[in-house]
Amino acid sequence: MKPYNQLNSFWKKKYGKRVQRIPVSTGLGCPNRTKKNGINGCIFCDPTGSGFAAESPTVPIEEQIKTMIQRTEKKYGEDIYFAVYLQSYTNTYASVEKLKHIFDRLFIDERIKVLDISTRPDCVEQEKLDLIATYKDKAEILIEYGLQSVNRETLVDLNRGHTLADFIDAVLRTKKMGITTLAHMIVDLPQDAMEDVVEGAQILSALGVDGVKLHSLYVVEGTELDRRIKQGRYDLLPFDEFVEREIRFLEYLDPSIVIHRLCSEPPKENAHGNWGMLKIEIIQEIERSMHERNTYQGKRFTYLNR
Ligand code: SF4
Repeated sequence: MKPYNQLNSFWKKKYGKRVQRIPVSTGLGCPNRTKKNGINGCIFCDPTGSGFAAESPTVPIEEQIKTMIQRTEKKYGEDIYFAVYLQSYTNTYASVEKLKHIFDRLFIDERIKVLDISTRPDCVEQEKLDLIATYKDKAEILIEYGLQSVNRETLVDLNRGHTLADFIDAVLRTKKMGITTLAHMIVDLPQDAMEDVVEGAQILSALGVDGVKLHSLYVVEGTELDRRIKQGRYDLLPFDEFVEREIRFLEYLDPSIVIHRLCSEPPKENAHGNWGMLKIEIIQEIERSMHERNTYQGKRFTYLNR
């Protein structure tokens, strides 16, 4: 048994069979990459907007979904469900009319049970949430918000372009609409201390987000992060520290929050990270270490009066 509330088991229990994410590109861009503030987006943002697994956005969206379904069926067979995953950039960065035009074309297969929209917490005006909520009769709607850190100075230094308050506001309004909410966190940011990581877990638990994606910090060539490292102004944390932070985060996290990911994977080209290890090796080490310490998600979750 996993020492944390793992997504695959959660979805299997909820839907009765495997649910597989299929990434789809909308090509909507990101408001944080167009700001005239001297830095082009978050300091770690790769040019694809962190969505390198998907097809090009120039391919019509229905075709992208068809291709991804066929590819996924080859691996897992036809007896599965799908989560259409709008992953790259900011997938609510458009007018309500344009978003409706995109979302209306997504449900081309009755096995699509989840619509998973990745976006920024400062890009979900209420009219957009109202539109998104209208698709609840077609699938479970999940909105993923990038937060990465709860430390104000870290958010500024990362050039995130939003605050913790923006995130809290977005999560509360999204939950009110009956939409599943998910937060992205990078646990091994050198700007953050362990206390920030713990506070991150506590804030997400208090807010009642439904899911979390944890990331390791990786470096894509040509990014501001890459420049800082080459200039000797910044250094990635060692693997041991990543494991410590990851475990501590999980210990303080509400055990009912679903873990969608324990670590990310750098793009195959022009990038490095994950200490030269495969993602599966990292996951196995975290799980091994948790079993060895007899610890689990929520072990230190005693700070909320529920
Ligand atoms: S919010 Fe996402 S897409 Fe936009 S700059 Fe940051 S990492 Fe890149």
